[in-house]
Amino acid sequence: MPPARRNRAGHFAMPPWHAELRMMDTLQRFIFENTAVRGELVEISDTWKQIQARRDYPAPVKKLLGEMLAAAALLSANLKFKGMMVMQMHGDGPVKLLVVECDSDLRLRATAKLGHDVKIPEDVGLAQLVNAHGRGRFVITLDPTDKLPGQQPYQGIVPLDGDSVAVVIENYMLRSEQLDTKLWLAADAHVSRGLLLQKLPQEGGVGTHAAEDDAEAWNRTVMLASTVRTQELLSTDINTLMHRLFWEETIRVFEPRHPSFHCSCTREKVANMLKMLGKPEVDSAIEELGKLSINCDFCGQYYEFDAVDCAQLFAIENTSDAIQAAGTVRH
Ligand SMILES: [Zn+2]
Repeated sequence: MPPARRNRAGHFAMPPWHAELRMMDTLQRFIFENTAVRGELVEISDTWKQIQARRDYPAPVKKLLGEMLAAAALLSANLKFKGMMVMQMHGDGPVKLLVVECDSDLRLRATAKLGHDVKIPEDVGLAQLVNAHGRGRFVITLDPTDKLPGQQPYQGIVPLDGDSVAVVIENYMLRSEQLDTKLWLAADAHVSRGLLLQKLPQEGGVGTHAAEDDAEAWNRTVMLASTVRTQELLSTDINTLMHRLFWEETIRVFEPRHPSFHCSCTREKVANMLKMLGKPEVDSAIEELGKLSINCDFCGQYYEFDAVDCAQLFAIENTSDAIQAAGTVRH
């Protein structure tokens, strides 16, 4: 373990006896020495509270979204490119959409869309909430910042196969990435915490003996991790969890990273969305309402477009269209 931890400002973190009072959102990557198994632990509290600040989700929705939040941070921490990962569950039940976005700096935002006037009982699980008729979908989109010309974001879509966020993602990783991945996730209103173990793909030229060792190490570490209980995940900080679960193993830890909340919405992006709706739609809304009031689903930021703003949106577009059209006309 590193002897001291620094927070983002470069100051030393509070001593351990204050850890419960002020816990910084942290993601800790580690490997089991001399094995092909890597792991990560994450705890997200401040960021999770900011996500919930403007929305009061029913407890079962909070649990799903919180678990997805931990999972998105865990998967994003292994990405090799600069950009964004978007994790979505498209539901056909009372929950229509759960979405978590995480960029390569572990900046997160998340939101949930529920059906109108739905009553969600306290004890429902993933299947009833998002896969009531078996048409739920799980989607991961990887969107690099620096795309090559014509390059589309990568998107993997699978059915909602499993009754927990962890199982859905484990199945996705095995199908889409051919990676053995195990996840333990838990979330309540206060914290979202998760553990990931992943078996690294075999390097070329490794003998069968090493492969057997790898399989043995994988089975052993998964078994150790499987002793963790949901309540324990919710109530135990990640350093304690790591020692409690893996005290017999030799572990090498990497520099901890710190997830944070960030919403990428801008007035320009909202304007683009209005442009995509089209002039007739926007004009009729302005006629009816006088102005358009839009709140960001992720952060609650308020954007207002009056008649002049809207006219301007399409005026600019018409000008560029006219220039384009003029350029392509051939006589
Ligand atoms: Zn926003």
